[in-house]
Amino acid sequence: MFERVEFYAGDPILGLMVEFANDTNPNKVNLGVGVYYDEDGVLPVLECVKTAEQRIADPFAARPYLPMEGLPGHRKGCQNLLFGKDAPVLQQNRVATVATIGGSGALKVGADFISKWFPQAKCYVSDPTWGNHIAIFEGSGMEVGKYPYYDKATGSVKFDELIAFFKTLNKNDVVLLHPCCHNPTGVDLTQAQWDELLQVVKERELIPFMDIAYQGFGEDMDSDAYAIRKAVDMGLPLFVSNSFSKNLSLYGERVGGLSVVCPTEEEADRVFGQLKFTVRRIYSSPPSHGGRVVDIVMNDDELHEQWVSEVYAMRDRIKAMRLKLKSVLESKVPGRNFDYLTTQNGMFSFTGLTPEQVERLKTEFGIYMVSNSRMCVAGLNSSNIDYVANAMAEVLKD
Ligand code: PMP
Repeated sequence: MFERVEFYAGDPILGLMVEFANDTNPNKVNLGVGVYYDEDGVLPVLECVKTAEQRIADPFAARPYLPMEGLPGHRKGCQNLLFGKDAPVLQQNRVATVATIGGSGALKVGADFISKWFPQAKCYVSDPTWGNHIAIFEGSGMEVGKYPYYDKATGSVKFDELIAFFKTLNKNDVVLLHPCCHNPTGVDLTQAQWDELLQVVKERELIPFMDIAYQGFGEDMDSDAYAIRKAVDMGLPLFVSNSFSKNLSLYGERVGGLSVVCPTEEEADRVFGQLKFTVRRIYSSPPSHGGRVVDIVMNDDELHEQWVSEVYAMRDRIKAMRLKLKSVLESKVPGRNFDYLTTQNGMFSFTGLTPEQVERLKTEFGIYMVSNSRMCVAGLNSSNIDYVANAMAEVLKD
């Protein structure tokens, strides 16, 4: 009966996690998956989250369904964070937001919505991008292409090629953009580049879909949302998927949101209705626990302030690890440029290691990175950084 069902080789990044768990090397280091570990190598529970949990802790409380769109406070929390608390676009009720099952759920709801209402649209993702972007949009029946992005030779963005490529796209084609902390490269556009790129998006009447999973890990909460707010200021229609997995360290609670910026309130109302219907036919309504945590932390001034400083502490620790790794590598591998480590943003760094070097790190040293050379810098800490630097120097020498 199932003869024709094809073998699934597994997700390359999640597969690495399993391999890592089974590795018996006592010095093993996990730099594969995009998860923030603290200085002790532990997945943190943020203090603001602990307080929120204490406020809702009643294991015997009833568990009603949430509405299809999720809790109002969760949705408001997404909007304020993405667009700014007093943003005119929010006062004008032009943003339709649904709470979603993580950032992945937001992408899926957005992709299903677009494939239904813009059936001719193709979707273009950066080369390279997070692998699931392609899978999710293809899974919604859309054709997915790649736009030029990362330049291996210089470690920067192929900006001229990117602009030239966007100029070839058709009205209503979807361009999936990373507003900050590009996954997997860590290489972002400057604000001036965003201005130029969004101008082309406007001229070509493309649909920008901004996926923001690391807000607060780049520069700060507001600067990281620059591209989103600029697009709104320019009057562009816009899809934004956001994830709280990393910046609230709520990975398994699956919390995120999808916001669609519309030209008028009346259109936003209709879009909101169709987003709800999209949710209804995929999973009906989101889970409640994580949504309640988001609601409390985002809407309580004190907890929100505490949250922001906790995110900045994570950001600063990552930056410190970047600096330290750079200085050790510079001393051990003279002549090779490691500037990329401190110019890239967020959790990830494209190290430029070959797949063979990445494989050696794994088999000889128990150090796990993605084969495209992506390292999760947030897996480094004072106890393992010298070991990692030495191992990297070793494989780079040969
Ligand atoms: N977008 C990007 C760019 C990501 O890196 C991730 C998480 N790896 C997601 C979306 C999905 O986030 P979530 O885990 O909340 O589904």
